[in-house]
This record gives sequence, C-alpha cells and structure tokens, in this order.
Amino acid sequence: MSARPLLMIPGPIEVSPAVQEAFCVPPPSHVAGHVIEAFGASLEKMRTVWRAGADSQPFIVAGSGTLAMELGVANLVDPGDRVLVVNTGYFSDRMGLILERLGADVTHVRAEVGEVPHTEAVAEALRSGAPYKLLCATHVDTSTGVRVDAQALAGLAREHGVLSVFDGVCATVGEAFEMEAWGADVYLTGSQKAVGLPPGLGLLVASKRAMDARAQLKRAPSLFADWHQWLPIMQAYEARKPSYFATPATNLILALDVGLSEIVARGPAQVAADHARVAGAVRQAWSALGLQLLPRRAEDAANTLSAVRYPEGVGPALVGEVKARGVIVAGGLYPGLKQAYFRVGHMGYSVTRRDWIAQTVQAVAEGLVAVGYEAADPDAAQAALEQGLG
Ligand code: PMP
Repeated sequence: MSARPLLMIPGPIEVSPAVQEAFCVPPPSHVAGHVIEAFGASLEKMRTVWRAGADSQPFIVAGSGTLAMELGVANLVDPGDRVLVVNTGYFSDRMGLILERLGADVTHVRAEVGEVPHTEAVAEALRSGAPYKLLCATHVDTSTGVRVDAQALAGLAREHGVLSVFDGVCATVGEAFEMEAWGADVYLTGSQKAVGLPPGLGLLVASKRAMDARAQLKRAPSLFADWHQWLPIMQAYEARKPSYFATPATNLILALDVGLSEIVARGPAQVAADHARVAGAVRQAWSALGLQLLPRRAEDAANTLSAVRYPEGVGPALVGEVKARGVIVAGGLYPGLKQAYFRVGHMGYSVTRRDWIAQTVQAVAEGLVAVGYEAADPDAAQAALEQGLG
C-alpha cells in the first residue's frame, strides 16, 4: 500500500509524474515566453486530441467543467431557442439548468436511470414541433456511469440541421470521439478527468459551424463566457504572441502542454483503446465479485468509470473500508440512489498503471469482505482482472 491513498474517484484523478513536475513550479507570468509556447502548443494539440477540424476553434479558460458547459452553450442559444437535452443523469440535468438560465426552451428526452434514451426517441423528438437549435448530450454521465452513442447523436443533429454540444467532462480522451468525422459542434471537458491534470481548466473545441452560430447570436453571452472575448486571446497564443483578457491558470497551462503531449505521443485512438481494455477487465473483476453495474446494458457502460451497485446487505460503509485499504473511491451521486451504488474512476494516467488498477480491485474486494459480504473472493477478482488485462 502506498503511503498516500490512491485517488480512484471519477475525477480528480492521479496525474502522471511529468504532469506533476510541470505544475509544481513557482507561478510564471501569463506572458512569459514558455507559457505562451505551452498555451499555443496546447491549443494545437487539442485539435489533434479532439480529432477536430483545422478550422475548429479550441478554448482554454480557467475554471471547472461547469464553466466549460456554460461556455459551450451560452454562445449558441438566444432566449426562446429550442434545445433538446438527451438526459442520462445528474450532469444532463445540470446542462438543462444552465440552458434554462439562458432562457432557452428546453425539452429533455429521458430514460430509466442507468439507461440511455433510444436514438429513435431522440429522432422523434427532433421531428416534433418547431425546429430545434441545439442538441445537448452528456457523453459519459458520471452520476450513472452510462455513455451515450455520441456518433449517432451527432449524426442525428446534422441530419436535422441542429447544432450538437457534448459534455465530455468524464469522457474526453478516455472515450473515442471524432469531432470532425462525426460532425459534432462543441466538445467540452474539465482538466481533472481523463485529460490528466488537476482541476482548474475548462477546455472546449467549437466547430466552424458553432463559431458562425455565435456570430449570429442576438444577445451576447456574459463577458467571461463570451467566445468573442476569448477568440483574439486564443488566436494570439496560437500565433505565439502575448495577450490578456482574464489571467490564465499559468501553472496548469504548463501541465496541459505536457499532459496533451503524452496523449498525442500514445495516439488518441490508442489511449481510448487502453481505457476500453482496462474498463473491460475491471468489469470482469466486479462480475467475479458478484457485483452488478448501474448501467443496465453492457454496451452503455462507460470506460472511464464504474458505477457499481452495492450487493445485498452492503451500503456506503464500503467506501470507508476501501479507503482503509489505501484506495479512495466515491459514493453514489444520482439523487435518490446515492445509497445504492459506489463509483470507481479508471481514467487518465491510472489506466497505464496495472499495479494501481489491481490495488483498487483488491481494496474493493477486501472491503466487501470486511463489511460482511462473504461471497467476495479477492483472488477470483484478481484472476478475472488479469485475464481481462491480457
Ligand atoms: N459534467 C460531467 C459529466 C461531470 O462529470 C462533471 C464533474 N464531475 C461536470 C460536468 C462538472 O464539472 P466540474 O465539477 O469540474 O464543474
């Protein structure tokens, strides 16, 4: 067991040694040469990692994932515009709230908890009533551990001439996403998830279509959320020129360049495949322990985290027992179901650490035994994990 417990929640997560080294420096100026270089290079690398077009526009702002959500939609809707939210949990609800504050006319397409609305139900909604301006979906909802079919939804949106925004806070880098090929318009995230940094940066890429839609907006967004405030700043940094609108989180910018470089070096497709392999192996381990996932269908289960139901007779005390064994996992998040399941993050740098994944499975298995779930067999869980990891 390491001296410090391992942070295996669905964000923030453990970061790579190189990323940590990059931000553990005295704060540099936002116009220092090496910060400008790191900022510009990060913007370029975001296009690569997001698989976005050369004409797309990346934005890096200081803030959390929720701010990225605000920035993602505030530039695309005027009051009264119709927006369809494909709702898969707590963070889809949050997107709905953000949109309502903007005065949008919001419709939710919902499914049972742990399920994903049928694509046909989404298509049906898009066909009904006055035209929609926007479709929003949470790529992976961290409260339920379900992943939507982002490719299908982006395709549907294109078919109906609707812009699409994907909250990738718990997905970007960990799940495959082809922004240009799938025709998505905004893909946003926070730095503390699979991108592999501490919390503190909101990251998003907007398509040319989305930038054009901002130009047509009747009511400008709040100053901090306005792409038009940030655009000249991003352009300046990309041209390796100093610029200022609101102070960037300079230490995190240095770390972002390093983190994105690691992803580019491994290749975005390979990184997503690694997440899928590890997630598959971890799911086999849960299954060997007799546990069930909150997502009802295997194909809807995210690769970045596991949302696992407590077995009969077990409750949130498990989380404390797992921590006593050196690993921090998270409790449930979905309102009304918090006591019914726990969540384990497997994303970012942790996915490259077989030892940490094994330690996490072991801590959960032993924690289950400690809370009286006799059926848990730690050795069987390890064997299943090993087999899955290959
Ligand atoms: N969307 C999703 C899918 C998330 O998982 C989170 C954070 N857990 C957010 C949005 C909000 O991000 P933040 O907490 O960084 O504001």
